[in-house]
Amino acid sequence: MRPFRYHRPTEVAEAVALLDAEPEAAYLAGGTNLVDLMKLGVQRPDVLVDVTGLPMDTVRPLPDGGVRIGANVRNSDLAAHPVIRRDYPVLTRALLAAASGQLRNMATTGGNLLQRTRCGYFQDTGKACNKREPGTGCAARHGQNRDLAVLGWSEHCVATHPSDLAVALVALDAVIETHASHGPRQIPLTELHREPGDRPEQETTLPRGTLITAVHLPPSPLARRSAYHKARDRASFAFASGSVAAALELDGGVVRDVRLAYGAVAHRPWRAYRAEATLRGRPFTAELAAHAADVELAAARPLEHNAFKVPLIRNLTVRALTELAGQP
Ligand SMILES: Cc1cc2nc3c(=O)[nH]c(=O)nc-3n(C[C@H](O)[C@H](O)[C@H](O)COP(=O)(O)OP(=O)(O)OC[C@H]3O[C@@H](n4cnc5c(N)ncnc54)[C@H](O)[C@@H]3O)c2cc1C
Ligand code: SF4
Repeated sequence: MRPFRYHRPTEVAEAVALLDAEPEAAYLAGGTNLVDLMKLGVQRPDVLVDVTGLPMDTVRPLPDGGVRIGANVRNSDLAAHPVIRRDYPVLTRALLAAASGQLRNMATTGGNLLQRTRCGYFQDTGKACNKREPGTGCAARHGQNRDLAVLGWSEHCVATHPSDLAVALVALDAVIETHASHGPRQIPLTELHREPGDRPEQETTLPRGTLITAVHLPPSPLARRSAYHKARDRASFAFASGSVAAALELDGGVVRDVRLAYGAVAHRPWRAYRAEATLRGRPFTAELAAHAADVELAAARPLEHNAFKVPLIRNLTVRALTELAGQP
């Protein structure tokens, strides 16, 4: 690992100013992703600005009935919070399906959303990777791409976003609160992560140096009936091969409202708007759920080794929605 300088500011403005002043600086939260990438030589910041001293570590109910989650709230604390468990079970289930207990005790809300792809070629500095080194090519496109994207990919990058938390938050219409040198901003989470296009090194829409300070969950009666289903190669301690976050509201058996998001299939958490539109206003059945998934997945373009993800996501969609509908 290369030598680096280290700061631990106690005010948001100070943290943002440090990033502004140092073009090669990076924020450090739990370090469970960034430090690994530094050891591999994939990221080489010369200054680390540790954000864990900033006052961003509380979960606070909001007057409108929503919740504000500080960016430093640890994944295990968020999963266990009584309001989250009661009102947003999809979030608790997504968090507990991720990593291990030890990692969740370190990993933070902000760091989880901005963790980098697990594409093996990205982590191997001996391989071509447009995300790590723009213009060098994509070793994964015709390489080992079993774990990579089926939706929204480009010839320049076929990576997926690895976060389970982000998939649940996208289904919940979460909004992130950010601070940069020009001041605070709120951004819907659906607008945070990008599709790769011809600039896969730009993973988010955030200008450099932007600090995530919090995530806002809007009030959502729908979210009380919500679930997260994740398929992975091992029963625990593994990233998703595919995942589905779902929330469902039925009125006399008819779908009054629904939210669906897919994980491990695209460069960003994938909100399944077409599937939602197919479901709304119709009598719920497992067949309708499968049809809705088919409508969403019609855009899928599987790579050489990952065609299995299309039926996998279809089956997870049916399982999540039938569970929420109380049907066998
Ligand atoms: C073995 C293993 C298994 C894992 N399994 C899963 C899994 O199944 N599902 C899953 O979702 N995750 C999984 N993870 C990933 C883990 O959840 C992430 O590493 C973690 O959430 C990152 O959070 P952190 O606080 O440690 O971030 P850090 O490593 O500190 O930072 C990550 C990135 O976010 C930036 N950053 C951090 N905080 C902020 C902020 N407030 N504002 C702006 N930028 C910020 C950093 O600069 C860095 O680029 C796994 C990790 C490991 C090592
Ligand atoms: S898929 Fe993306 S991250 Fe993986 S090698 Fe290709 S460019 Fe790099």
